[in-house]
Amino acid sequence: MKRFIVVFALLAGLLMILAGCMSETKEATVSEANTQPEAVTKTVATAVPEGIPVLMYHKIGPDEDNDAVIREDLFRAQMKLLHDKGFNPITMEQLNEYVRHGTAVPVKPVVLTFDDGYADTYSIVYPVLKEYGFAATVYVNPGDVGTRLTWEQIKEMKDGGVTIASHGYDHVRMNELSNSDQLANIVKAQLALKEKLDIDNQWFCYPYGRENEYSQKAAADNGILLAVTMNPGWVHKGDNPYALHRIWIGNAVDLAHFEERITTEDYADL
Ligand SMILES: [Zn+2]
Repeated sequence: MKRFIVVFALLAGLLMILAGCMSETKEATVSEANTQPEAVTKTVATAVPEGIPVLMYHKIGPDEDNDAVIREDLFRAQMKLLHDKGFNPITMEQLNEYVRHGTAVPVKPVVLTFDDGYADTYSIVYPVLKEYGFAATVYVNPGDVGTRLTWEQIKEMKDGGVTIASHGYDHVRMNELSNSDQLANIVKAQLALKEKLDIDNQWFCYPYGRENEYSQKAAADNGILLAVTMNPGWVHKGDNPYALHRIWIGNAVDLAHFEERITTEDYADL
């Protein structure tokens, strides 16, 4: 009985200490909320949209007259616009549920994708994604890793919440390959992502956006749930998950055109 009382007293004491800690934590959160409202995680409303814009980026840098490159200042301004205007970058998992089942996603959804695994995806893009807490997907060619990004950098991004996905083992036009070579390009990439990053990869991006009926089947047969092309337009529930459209973003997409592209599917050709 005595032992029971001692244990009870100890427990009660512990509870009081815990309660004290909790009330302090609560006060700290409130005062933090008063001074830094954006630091507090907000609850985002969800809805089933008519469509979702999937944005396609490649390299961030100064190269001019290259449709696959965008200036760093413009890229940063676009990400700031997403943040300031309340857009919500969503994950591939969320996009997959929406496409296949019409599942609700956060309002003002957008999907950020970065192809080819350029060095700037780590040095420029990744810090910006972290700053805003944006979800994004990076499609890499395992056969090219080491020439641009390293596996260490890719792993760091993966551990930091970026979705790392397949762009095929080599950067080749799938529709120009034999069926067995297409299959090998997909399977080798899956194995490399598993071996190097312990990823059971479910997302694919056709190099140059080039694919055919067999590419789609080979992707589906090897664990891929969604595959993206370079065909322009938004993604809708019920679309073919193995031929999703994306929106090109480059230097011609100034902030007004950028906002148009993520607000209406009927956006201007540039
Ligand atoms: Zn590519």
